[in-house]
Amino acid sequence: MIIAIDGPSGAGKSTLAKNIAKKLGIVYVDTGALYRTIGLYVYNKGISKDESEKIVAALNEINIKLDFVCGAQKVLLNGVDVGDSIRTQNIAAYASAVSAIIEVRAFLLDTQRNIAKENSIVMDGRDIGTVIFPNADVKIFLTANDVSRAERRFAELAEKGTVTTFEKVLEEMRERDHNDSTRKTAPAIPADDSILLDNSGMTLEETEQAALEIIKSKLGNI
Ligand code: C5P
Repeated sequence: MIIAIDGPSGAGKSTLAKNIAKKLGIVYVDTGALYRTIGLYVYNKGISKDESEKIVAALNEINIKLDFVCGAQKVLLNGVDVGDSIRTQNIAAYASAVSAIIEVRAFLLDTQRNIAKENSIVMDGRDIGTVIFPNADVKIFLTANDVSRAERRFAELAEKGTVTTFEKVLEEMRERDHNDSTRKTAPAIPADDSILLDNSGMTLEETEQAALEIIKSKLGNI
């Protein structure tokens, strides 16, 4: 079984996907972490976001493996767990830049597809329903207006102790939305057969309930 959850940043994809995976006893896969890991590698090498040729050349030095420990995903970059080092705003911007490069997307294709060969999964990302698994059993496009999404992201960052302003978070989110939805390769747009779930003003529980209804309508009682 493959459940694809796509949508813009801050819509709550990862929380939703994690909760659904737990409820259904299947594996949760966070694909943004893969792009973030490549972003981290090139940032640490001192390559700038617009140096596409150098980013593509760096792929030869990168080995990425996903590991699942008690339901939690770990990303191993050349054998070392990247942990939370990929969760900064700077690395998010790097992830967005590298993810627009066709070679980077091709590089990560098999890593994503192979996981579904051995597991039932709920996978979140931007192009899961359109490119990675066009035949997914359920496709949800989770979205919310940008102010709601930036409010959530700002609260998350504040909780982690990151010093920033709401305006900066909103501006960065708008920039990332624009990059992700207008890029030529695998833009973050809903698949024709995906079901749109706009959770502006909805609680986590309400979002999960609505998603489970969608899953039930597609798969029956599971
Ligand atoms: O979801 P997350 O914020 O971790 O993703 C970081 C960036 O990685 C996104 O802004 C997007 O540019 C890219 N991404 C992607 N395709 C995916 C997942 C993430 O292009 N399937």
